[in-house]
Amino acid sequence: MEKIQMTTPLVEMDGDEMTRVLWAMIKEKLLLPFVDLKTEYYDLGLLHRNETRDQVTVDAANAAKRLGVAVKCATITPNQQRMKEYPVLTEMWKSPNGTIRSILDGTVFRAPICIDAVKPVVKNWKRPITIARHAYGDVYKAVDLETGEPGTATLTFTGESGESKTLTVQHVDGPAVWQAAHNKEASIRSFARSCFQYAIDTRQDLWFSTKDTIAKVYDGVFKRIFEEEFEASYQARFKELGISYFYTLIDDAVARVIRSEGGYIWACKNYDGDVMSDMVSTAFGSLAMMTSVLVSPDGTTEFEAAHGTVTRHYYRYLNGEVTSTNPMATIFAWSGALKKRGALDGLKDLTAFGETLERACFETLNAGVMTKDLAELAEPGFHATAVNSEEFLDAVAARLKAALK
Ligand code: NAP
Ligand code: MG
Repeated sequence: MEKIQMTTPLVEMDGDEMTRVLWAMIKEKLLLPFVDLKTEYYDLGLLHRNETRDQVTVDAANAAKRLGVAVKCATITPNQQRMKEYPVLTEMWKSPNGTIRSILDGTVFRAPICIDAVKPVVKNWKRPITIARHAYGDVYKAVDLETGEPGTATLTFTGESGESKTLTVQHVDGPAVWQAAHNKEASIRSFARSCFQYAIDTRQDLWFSTKDTIAKVYDGVFKRIFEEEFEASYQARFKELGISYFYTLIDDAVARVIRSEGGYIWACKNYDGDVMSDMVSTAFGSLAMMTSVLVSPDGTTEFEAAHGTVTRHYYRYLNGEVTSTNPMATIFAWSGALKKRGALDGLKDLTAFGETLERACFETLNAGVMTKDLAELAEPGFHATAVNSEEFLDAVAARLKAALK
């Protein structure tokens, strides 16, 4: 069989623990036999981040900016416990995802992989609902204050020009609690652009919700910036693709989401996205079936699984046990990246390979061959048999090979 050719390399960011093991298996069984894989490789495994004083993470993010498409394996974010587990660590290195997100100025989109065998809790959901969460400001960068006597709070902004603005927040007759939050116009604009760009890339409608009837100025700015960006740069392309941009109040959005069939992107402010992404992903069934895509306003895209490094399984693996860790979200990170690379470089065969790989996964699951986590959730009609990770990948590889012949 002739291998499918690539022109521009993908940025490949390797990671930690069980997902690092799966990473190598996916490449060996599902990619290298079929694709003349070109990647620029960065080892974001914890030990290598430590050796390079985390420079490798910065280099990987800059490479993603330069090449446009990246695929990332899950990585350990060190905490106190990890510092004890890995005594060689010279610092408690920051979350690689945080570092990459701030360099790319990107927004994270979380989308479930929907399969017939596992039905969402909301029975009318037929297609994925992707949540885009704004990742800067609001309550996450707010200052809080508790006071114990009657008095008045004011809010003052002092400009560098020397001009200032003051508002009375409230006069209170007893103890009270206060909060001041902010957001930046540039951050909201980047968020809007990433959302419109991702809607175009995935050909899905975009919904955006805030509470601008109450927070007239604050949320009003979010609404206005989205409208401005849409009209200035995206409206024409949306029309060509037959997709739409829809703004509504957050409470109306919640009701519509529950009644919908799915198949759109829901852009949320920081807090709304935090809460709603947990609700939506739980209702779709499994963390192991959730993908995560980071999109920057200039279109740079990084694909990964939403789950972590699956530490508990890794320790069993180190003890010589064969684990049934679900590789679906990591496979879909690769297929997503290959499809995107194919689309950017005009390589139809590469895009088609990404689609065929995903189809081979769905066929395998529909045949009842799945990892333990899914077998436990599967509808009774599927006669699911739990297999280990390697058996699952072999079953996908066999279908992939047959489909490519
Ligand atoms: P996790 O790795 O997502 O795993 C939590 C549990 O969820 C697992 O123990 C397992 O449950 C189940 N699970 C997750 N993915 C699965 C899969 N593919 N197949 C089967 N079961 C799966 O979260 P964590 O244990 O809280 O975090 C572990 C490490 O990952 C941490 O060091 C954290 O910093 C890192 N992390 C990285 C990222 C990232 O790079 N994007 C994201 C989150 C966490 P059972 O044990 O019950 O089978
Ligand atoms: Mg949350």
